[in-house]
Amino acid sequence: MDLSSNKPFIAGNWKMNKTTHEAVEFAEALNDAVSIEEIEATIVLFPAFTALSEIKKNLEKSPVFMGAQDLFWEEKGAFTGEISASMLKDAGCDYVLIGHSERRKYFGESNESVNKKIRKALTHNLSPVMCIGESLEERKKGETIKKIETQLKDGLNGLGKDEIKRIILAYEPIWAIGTGETATPAQAEEVHHFIRNKLAENYGNENTSCVIILYGGSVKPANTFSLLKEKDINGVLVGGASLKVDSFKEIITEAIKAYKER
Ligand code: PEP
Repeated sequence: MDLSSNKPFIAGNWKMNKTTHEAVEFAEALNDAVSIEEIEATIVLFPAFTALSEIKKNLEKSPVFMGAQDLFWEEKGAFTGEISASMLKDAGCDYVLIGHSERRKYFGESNESVNKKIRKALTHNLSPVMCIGESLEERKKGETIKKIETQLKDGLNGLGKDEIKRIILAYEPIWAIGTGETATPAQAEEVHHFIRNKLAENYGNENTSCVIILYGGSVKPANTFSLLKEKDINGVLVGGASLKVDSFKEIITEAIKAYKER
């Protein structure tokens, strides 16, 4: 696990893509491509549950970390179809995505369930990546900040100062996810800046200045550099462009370049 904000954090969310065989092929190719980058970026892959254990074997001696796309907040029991934090740890995960907008939209995820999942992840030493973001309608109505504020307040409800340092946030405007339309660096920075200030207000600057805040939404090699030049953007959560080694590798390279110039 690497929670340093001194280097860019590049996460690949594969969603419901790649068989185990395809996932392992990707991990092998990425390993060959990234060995020199290892100390300059934190790289995390988020494959489907079925590929986790097998991919981990390939990442054992690699600088690339692994995370899952969701978990359930109970320890174990009669919860058909769900997966627990212990199972994810056992499979070799260090990170877990929580509250991705697709889970909120299709699977009824609420800020309250997000909060329960975050607490469970932390008790198992998994770093939660909490996803938040506004819809196009909310943006048009000027409600972006209000939405983000509520998601932060309810999603992080009850967490202490030590816990907040272990959280990663991903600002993902819903209108930019999978649409090819990216927030401009200024639009993204405005929200990231708000998030950082809000965290500082609630938990103290000394505990939150290092919290990693990612941007997600149609990130590609061509827009990574300008996004990562922004002061409060510490990395990217990449969907579509993380499915091919070449574009994912290019994003890593661009992010490192931008970080060096900040
Ligand atoms: C995502 O899956 O979180 C995402 C941002 O997807 P995309 O990069 O394809 O927009």
